Amino acid sequence: MADERKSVREDGADAARRAGASPPFAFRVEARDPAGAARLGRLVTGHGEIETPVFMPVGTCGAVKAMPFPALWETGTRLILGNSYHLYLRPGHRLVAELGGLHRFQGWDGALLTDSAGFQVFSLAELNRVTEDGVQFRSHLDGSRHFFTPELSMEIQLALGSDIIMAFDHCLPGGASAGEVAAAVERTGRWARRCRDACGGGRVWRGGWERVLFAVVQGGTLAQERRRSAAELVGLDLAGYAIGGLSVGEPVPAMREMTELTAALLPAEKPRYLMGVGFPDDIIESVARGVDMFDCVLPTRMARNGTVLTRRGRLVVRNEAYARDESPLDPACGCPACRRHSRAYLRHLFQAREILGPVLATMHNLHWYQELMATLRAALRAERFGAVAAGLLADWRDGERQRREEIERGGPDAR
Ligand SMILES: [Zn+2]
Repeated sequence: MADERKSVREDGADAARRAGASPPFAFRVEARDPAGAARLGRLVTGHGEIETPVFMPVGTCGAVKAMPFPALWETGTRLILGNSYHLYLRPGHRLVAELGGLHRFQGWDGALLTDSAGFQVFSLAELNRVTEDGVQFRSHLDGSRHFFTPELSMEIQLALGSDIIMAFDHCLPGGASAGEVAAAVERTGRWARRCRDACGGGRVWRGGWERVLFAVVQGGTLAQERRRSAAELVGLDLAGYAIGGLSVGEPVPAMREMTELTAALLPAEKPRYLMGVGFPDDIIESVARGVDMFDCVLPTRMARNGTVLTRRGRLVVRNEAYARDESPLDPACGCPACRRHSRAYLRHLFQAREILGPVLATMHNLHWYQELMATLRAALRAERFGAVAAGLLADWRDGERQRREEIERGGPDAR
């Protein structure tokens, strides 16, 4: 076992790279909100430094949908998420490894985090059987049978070459019983140990950069289970920790409470990642509770459906109400779509089913999210986080409330 671990840690090209350009993975907290738990930080990876709080666009199948990588870089994105489940099924992690790993395969120079496939195996695939060893499921693509284990998840993520690897955890849907939550917490702990053992003890130098393992705290909406899960996983002394199993249909106050409780249980000097969250107000509220990293399909998925984000909430640009509207999507936005095009043009593109519609809307939404994160970071640096966050939240909620009222009245966004 010890020899096997050594062989994972050491391989040919590493000594040169370690002595040269690529720094080891690190996280530094650079400023704290004097009035709360929010913090400004910096992730150091073998593929660049990333300021936190950070939002990671989701690159499901080796692509952030509708976004060429240079345009993604222009939004300020420096860290993206790749989905192990999808890449394992198609084109296959071994093929990606053969072609130089996921960074090279997709042509992305920034940093990369891959998920463990746990969430998709438990939610998307046709689940057959969960055992202590792993999960048997059928592919959502062709019905083929697969057996996923913590070790296979590590094999896939090491083959893809991501900078941050997520431990394979037992995800439960919202509404699980206390007994089910307790069992999933215990299994998640045992699986995290297996992931650590299959992943060089949690840190692996390979291909010229260091890859690190993050564990995922489970526990549903039960405070006692969250505490148990966090205590066990923190004991593994990994490079970072995620808060999983939220945003799965639980009420918003429960999500906030569990985020705050779990973040406070995690080591102050390590990055904290809230998985799958969320709406802009969820992100701001979670930064205020000490979260550093976020991912969500929301900005890209909404964009493809013709919905864009503004400081004052969502705007359904494909609606008839914008057919003659010459203003940009968001007057305060400096993205290429807003600098050049009107709402009327975007509305036309969606009506005509032109592929440029989703492309421009995605460009705007991701630019908008990254601007939001940059605003939060600047506020933390200036020790003004509380006031800035309150102003952003008030504008967003006010706009969303107006939108709901307009829909009830049959206004623009209803058509
Ligand atoms: Zn824009």
